[in-house]
Amino acid sequence: MNDTKLEYKSEYGVPMKIMKFGGSTIKTPDMIKKVADIIKNEEDVKVVVVSALHGQTNEIREYLKTVETESNDIDSFIANILEKHENMVKTAISNEKIQKEVIVKIKNIILKLERLLYGVAYTEELTPKTQDLILSSAERMSAYLMEGVLNSMVVPACAYEADQIGIVTDGIFYNATANLQETEKNLCEVLDADIKKGVVPVITGFFGRDSEGRTTTFGKNGSDYSAAVIAYALSADVLELWKDVNGFMSADPILVPNAHTMDKLSYDEAAELAYFGIGLLHPRTVGPVRLKDIPIVIKNIIQPQKKGTIIMKKGFKSKNVIKSVVYTNDLVEIKVSGPGAGYRSGVLSLVSSTLSSSNINIYSVNTSQTYLSMLIHKNDLEGCLKALKDIQSGVIEGIEHQKDIALVCVVGEGSRNIKGLAGKIFSAVASSDVNVEMMSAGASEVAAHFIIKKEGLKRTIEAIHRAFCEEPSST
Ligand code: ASP
Ligand code: MG
Repeated sequence: MNDTKLEYKSEYGVPMKIMKFGGSTIKTPDMIKKVADIIKNEEDVKVVVVSALHGQTNEIREYLKTVETESNDIDSFIANILEKHENMVKTAISNEKIQKEVIVKIKNIILKLERLLYGVAYTEELTPKTQDLILSSAERMSAYLMEGVLNSMVVPACAYEADQIGIVTDGIFYNATANLQETEKNLCEVLDADIKKGVVPVITGFFGRDSEGRTTTFGKNGSDYSAAVIAYALSADVLELWKDVNGFMSADPILVPNAHTMDKLSYDEAAELAYFGIGLLHPRTVGPVRLKDIPIVIKNIIQPQKKGTIIMKKGFKSKNVIKSVVYTNDLVEIKVSGPGAGYRSGVLSLVSSTLSSSNINIYSVNTSQTYLSMLIHKNDLEGCLKALKDIQSGVIEGIEHQKDIALVCVVGEGSRNIKGLAGKIFSAVASSDVNVEMMSAGASEVAAHFIIKKEGLKRTIEAIHRAFCEEPSST
C-alpha cells in the first residue's frame, strides 16, 4: 500500500482511510464477517461507508414500479426484507444482546418503509421525495448490521445515517450532488470525537439531505460517490472501494480472455471508463477526491491480497498509449436530416432542448451539412422519436434511427496528442474487417470514440486489444 500514500493529509496522527464496501461484498453472513475482519485488521484510522445488502435496493426499486397502481402485497414484501436481514443478523452476530439491539434498529427502519409503501399505495402517487426516502432504507439497515457485526468482534463502531449527520445535497432527487464545503464542516464536527476515541464510524452510502432536510439520493450505485464525498470532507489519505473484482480491466474479459487488470489509472482515465457504464465505478466518484488529490484504490473482497487498481492524479503513460478498450451497445443513433440541419444555428439547440425537456440525455452529437447525428440510450428511443415528430418542420425533414450499433472507446493518457495514433487505431479496426461508421475525437483528452455495427464488436475489441493493450500498462 506504500505506493498509494501521497503526502500525509489527515489530522489524526496516522493516515486516514475511507473504506467503502459495495453490495457485491455483503451478500452472505460469511461475507459480512470477512468485511468486518478486513476492517478490524486495518491499522490506519478508518471510516467505513456501506451500500445496501446485495440486490436489496434494486428489489425495492423494482417493487416501486408497480406499488402505485397494482394491488401489491406490501405485507409479504416487507416480511421478506425483514427475514433476509434477520437471518444476516442471527448468523453474522453471535452475541445475543447485540443481535437484539440490531434487530430493533432494523425493525424501526422497516416499519417506516412499510408505512411509506402503504402511503404510496393509498394515495396512488409516488413523488420523487417519497421515492428517494424509500430507496434509502436498505443502506440504513446495512449500516446498523455492520455496526453490530463490528461491535460483536470487539471493534468499537458507530452507525450513522448520512442525512442525519449533514451530508448536504443540492436537492435534486435521484441524482443529487453534494455540497462539499457544508458537508466538510458537518462531518468534521460530528465524527471528530469518534475518530479520536478509536471508534469506527459506519456511514450509509447513497444519499444525503438537502438544505430543507429532505433525503436525496445520488442515483443508482451512488455509494461510491458518497464515499468520495466523505473522503473529501475528512481529507482522507486514501479511498478504498471494495468490490468483487480486481479492478479496471484492459477489455471486457468475456470478449478478450487474456485481458488484464490495470494497476494504475489517472482520474481522467477512470472517469472515462466509469462513464462507459461497466458498472465498476459510479461515474462521478472521481470528482470530489481529485479536488484534494486523494487516491482511489479498487480492492477485491474475494482476493484482498491483490493490489487492485489505483487511481490518482498523475498520468501513467503506457508504452502503447492506449490502456483499455471499452464499449457500450446500449445506444441508438438518431439521424435528423434537412437542408442545413447540421450548420444552421438554432437546429441543434431546438433538438437538444426538445429532448432535454423529455428527460432524454444525448450522449454525443455529430454534425454535417445535412445531417445531425446523435446517440441516445436505447430505452429512450420511443420517447425521442415522439418528441422529434412534434418539431418536424421545414428544417427537420427526415428522422431515422439505427439500432444495431456499438460505441467503442479507447482510453489512454496522452492519446489525443500522439501523431498517427488515430490511423493506427483505425487500421487495427479495418484489419478485423469492420467498418467505422462514425468517428469522433470526443471532448476528452484521454479517450477517442467511434461507432461500428454491433456484429463486428468482438472482432474490433480483440483487434484493438491485440494492437495496443496486451502488455500491462503499469510503470
Ligand atoms: N444501494 C444503492 C444502489 O443499489 C447504492 C449503491 O449500491 O451504490 O443503487
Ligand atoms: Mg451497489
